[in-house]
Amino acid sequence: MPETDSPKLFGRSALSGAARVAGVIGWPIAHSLSPRLHGFWLDRHRVDGVYVPLAVKPGMLGRALIGLSALGFAGANVTIPHKEDACALVDEVSDLALRIGAVNTIVVRSDGRLFGTNTDAFGFIANLEAGCPGWRADAGPAVLLGAGGAARAIAVALIEAAAPALVIVNRDQGRAERLAAKLGPAGVRVEPWAKRAEVAGEAALLVNATSLGMAGKPPLDIDLAALPGEAVVTDIVYAPLVTPLLAAAGARGNRTVDGLGMLLHQARPAFQAWFGIDPEVSPELRRHVEQGLRPS
Ligand code: NDP
Repeated sequence: MPETDSPKLFGRSALSGAARVAGVIGWPIAHSLSPRLHGFWLDRHRVDGVYVPLAVKPGMLGRALIGLSALGFAGANVTIPHKEDACALVDEVSDLALRIGAVNTIVVRSDGRLFGTNTDAFGFIANLEAGCPGWRADAGPAVLLGAGGAARAIAVALIEAAAPALVIVNRDQGRAERLAAKLGPAGVRVEPWAKRAEVAGEAALLVNATSLGMAGKPPLDIDLAALPGEAVVTDIVYAPLVTPLLAAAGARGNRTVDGLGMLLHQARPAFQAWFGIDPEVSPELRRHVEQGLRPS
């Protein structure tokens, strides 16, 4: 078997005293795929480093972040429920994370200060570019279903990538309006949830950023009859990989991109910042992380 198909899990048994340490802070954290994802790259690149799950209860983030610096961590990812609180608790926040209102990646500087940024926007765009070669955000209007935390990062990503129009549609319309107001520029509009099928008719890109369609949740109920044939459809839900939305869009001939790639690509800038290597989102990595999705 070629070396690229079977990374040896030698890393954890060969760590030196100088190993770099990173991890993911969240609560609960046991379901996180990030240790599996970063662990693959650490093994593949034979890095003297480790990436661990860090179960940090609500209310404990401030103490955990002081610990990161005190313990000499290279940095950490931050996930639910701490992403928003992290903005106020790090020493420096990137402009992008400020716009999104959430930090998902922390880098510990050499002087121990914590720099917080957000790589979800990068992950969203990179996934579409990789999954749909030739796709460009500026090619046409985007219709975004959802106005929660993930939708905020995606809205900022699409605006930064020069989408000419962004229509936000959310069950709680007030939440969508607050998001649109924060985004600011002309070209962002909110429509009622009841009009989602009609609004899809305007989309060059249709994004599901709600949790609908996730295993254990109801499917996203949307009639795609009006969706243009050339529209690209992406769902950020990745469990299951092929959501009912992606299945319906694929069946009528639309190009589709699943949500797992967003998770894989958002990890790249963080890995590079902590371990000094820009890793590849390869088919082998995808297969390895997909195995972590399957109930054993
Ligand atoms: P939030 O809880 O912040 O937002 C949930 C969104 O789903 C809101 O827009 C909410 O609408 C909507 N929603 C929930 N239930 C319903 C329903 N019954 N009918 C209509 N709308 C509903 O979650 P996140 O934004 O953090 O995450 C959303 C999804 O994205 C999750 O499934 C998560 O796993 C996935 N995700 C994937 C990532 C990736 O890398 N691929 C990254 C981050 C998240 P309302 O405001 O009306 O409640």
